[in-house]
Amino acid sequence: MQIDDLYHLIPDFICTEGCHACCEDFGVPSRTPVEDARLKAFLKQHSIQQGKARGNTCPYLVATGCSIYPVRPFICRLYGTSPNYRCKMEVSPLRLMHEDEEAEIFHLYQTRFF
Ligand code: SF4
Repeated sequence: MQIDDLYHLIPDFICTEGCHACCEDFGVPSRTPVEDARLKAFLKQHSIQQGKARGNTCPYLVATGCSIYPVRPFICRLYGTSPNYRCKMEVSPLRLMHEDEEAEIFHLYQTRFF
């Protein structure tokens, strides 16, 4: 299993346009070494300077949104899609994950990618 395969297990979720509420409350998102390597390669490829954390705001959040969106880590993708990571603006995907499904995805993430 590759990390993208894991990401595909997370239900699609379309945020409210222009809303960055979770990114302003996240600090620096946690990530595995695999995700960190992808992120660093993306920053280098796109000549993006890593920002500094500002309070609880993610350093990758810029005026136009997430500057690393294609390689955003697992936790950013999961947010809003499962019972324990509900969107604070109360937006939901068509299919909210069941708690057991969330636990299984976390288990895969922690056992295969750390
Ligand atoms: S990495 Fe991107 S999606 Fe994740 S919290 Fe930061 S700005 Fe938001």
